[in-house]
Amino acid sequence: MLRSVILAASRSPRVERLVAALPATRDLAHRFVAGVDADDALHAATDAIGGGRSVTLEHLGPATHTVEAATAIRDEYVELLTRLAAAGLTPAGDVTVRLSALGRRFDERFAYDNARAVCAAAAAAGTSVTLGMEDHTTTDPTLDVLLKLREEYPATGATLQAYLRRTESDCRDLAAAGSRVRLCRGGYREPESVAYRSARDIGKSYVRCAKVLLAGGGYPMFATADPRLIAIIEDRSRWFDRRPDQFEFQLRYGVRPSEQERLVTEGYTVRIQIPYGRNWYPHLMRRLAVRPAVLGRALLPAG
Ligand SMILES: Cc1cc2nc3c(=O)[nH]c(=O)nc-3n(C[C@H](O)[C@H](O)[C@H](O)COP(=O)(O)OP(=O)(O)OC[C@H]3O[C@@H](n4cnc5c(N)ncnc54)[C@H](O)[C@@H]3O)c2cc1C
Repeated sequence: MLRSVILAASRSPRVERLVAALPATRDLAHRFVAGVDADDALHAATDAIGGGRSVTLEHLGPATHTVEAATAIRDEYVELLTRLAAAGLTPAGDVTVRLSALGRRFDERFAYDNARAVCAAAAAAGTSVTLGMEDHTTTDPTLDVLLKLREEYPATGATLQAYLRRTESDCRDLAAAGSRVRLCRGGYREPESVAYRSARDIGKSYVRCAKVLLAGGGYPMFATADPRLIAIIEDRSRWFDRRPDQFEFQLRYGVRPSEQERLVTEGYTVRIQIPYGRNWYPHLMRRLAVRPAVLGRALLPAG
């Protein structure tokens, strides 16, 4: 119930104005969002990399609908990558990009060209790009773009969503040598015809997909904060003789810092997804919807 209220609030500009004005909001936002601009993102990346993590930086924002807006996002990423390299934060730092931010909604070819420019900047910076995955109607077009980008930039990473029924088969297709594949649960509202709906079925799918990726020749990136899934992956990685440097865990900025620390101490690669940008409000509200108790604690008076 509280979760759906928070999600509804995440879509309301009026609630956004009210929440953004609350003194407690700034502290809360800082917990889950690095800040509003590239300086903030680079600062968070420096801290995380100094603490033994890797990072993937993601600019927050809605889909773009004009050439100017999509070009601005492309330029933001190109500049960010140049600055990451100049600060000595590559290869530990890379970026995550969604094709809808680069113009896919109004021109697929233009979005591809923008993604190619970001991949070129990443290669020049000594790092790589991972494509985020959006709702299921975009899965095939995104994988088509991925394969095309990989012809020039083979390190380009894919994101697959365990809640989709098709994903085990996609994992098989993408588990080839050198292929970087992020496996996440999936974050969109999808129909039952294409997606598992219960947490139990999604968890089972995640484990089946993880096994396919660990058994294959690629580089799996397990994006989850779920302690049960993390424990299963630690165990299955041993079944498949995967050394800790042959796969990685990915967690969101601010989520389960003690678990991040434990994994680093055990020798695993841990990559933190660092979101930043002026459009931080919907991202913050989605994080709070996962963990409403955090909101309660933040809004209570201290003492
Ligand atoms: C790096 C990365 C990239 C992603 N990319 C995509 C993408 O391209 N497309 C897409 O659809 N989705 C993406 N996602 C989102 C993903 O699909 C899930 O919606 C999201 O990660 C939540 O699932 P989870 O497995 O982390 O488990 P959750 O359900 O979030 O949580 C699992 C466990 O972690 C604990 N936990 C969660 N949050 C907190 C917190 N704040 N503090 C303490 N404990 C907490 C919970 O108690 C629970 O036990 C991405 C996620 C990550 C981490």
